[in-house]
Amino acid sequence: MVVVLEKNISDKQIENVIKHLEEFGFAVHKSTGVEQIILGAIGVKPDFDTRKVKILDGVAEVYRITEPFKLASRTFRKEDTVIKIKDVSIGGNEVIMMAGPCSVENEDQIFTIAEIVAKSGAKILRGGAFKPRTSPYAFQGLGEDGLRLLRNAADKYNLLVITEVMESSQINLIEEYTDIFQVGARNMQNFSLLRDLGKTTKPIMLKRGLAATVEDWLMSAEYILANGNRDVMLCERGIRTFETYTRNTFDLSAIPVVHKRSHLPVIADPSHATGLRDKVLPMARAAVAAGADGLMVEVHNDPEKALSDGPQALLPEQFMELMQQVKLIAGVIGRKM
Ligand code: PEP
Ligand code: MN
Repeated sequence: MVVVLEKNISDKQIENVIKHLEEFGFAVHKSTGVEQIILGAIGVKPDFDTRKVKILDGVAEVYRITEPFKLASRTFRKEDTVIKIKDVSIGGNEVIMMAGPCSVENEDQIFTIAEIVAKSGAKILRGGAFKPRTSPYAFQGLGEDGLRLLRNAADKYNLLVITEVMESSQINLIEEYTDIFQVGARNMQNFSLLRDLGKTTKPIMLKRGLAATVEDWLMSAEYILANGNRDVMLCERGIRTFETYTRNTFDLSAIPVVHKRSHLPVIADPSHATGLRDKVLPMARAAVAAGADGLMVEVHNDPEKALSDGPQALLPEQFMELMQQVKLIAGVIGRKM
């Protein structure tokens, strides 16, 4: 930690700051610059609250040098994490497509969509059976019937399954049907759920919270990792800003930012990020160009009648077009798709 002292600080105040730092357990190194004194505090613990130093008299700025997350950081692990599920690897050279409807609605719907996405080259079928809806009156998902349909449709077309888990009590049930647990944006800081998922052995995709910084997001990943499950991938799905022309604002730069700070794979979800189907293709291209390790895209055979998120669902032919275009982009940056 670097502590910059105020220009007009008195000797007594300097002594007081140093005394506090030593009491907090730091070794202190003092450097006197032309205008200001800088203290280097060595031995910062991940959970140290830097505000304890910021409020001391005579302190101008405090900078943390070590990151508060550990297992999720590049410092801890230099090589990219590659998550292997059957014959699919996430986080390696291949860009992985996860696609499907927002919600599993009925047998016909999920089998039709599974066939379309498998034929276009997707490896993973998505679909919610437990839905986190803003309104309690909106369709909440088919529950276990939805899980069963999703699994059967995926198996028929040789796809893996990803589906959302909303609370700890659903973990055991969902684990029977899914290959990957999805933690939704609204649950990114449901720490008891993250802790319980850390004790499972299936991979987890952690979506970024609506108002979460990259650091908050990585700290949430840390909860899962610290509880034992090391197969965590992150998903950028847009954050809430003042902009209203899109449902959320797609934070494209989060992809290279996370790749620099963390070894965990990053998936991009241009469907929830933009909320409008005509914006999904350009942002999917951009996400792959920015280095996303995979995409999650909503597709529906009859989006006008979809029970959730119809306006952002791609039509089958749009999805096929998207697959062709993102494959080309992947090739340009030396990746397979
Ligand atoms: C979803 O994937 O359908 C979903 C609800 O996503 P998010 O948590 O990103 O809103
Ligand atoms: Mn959705």
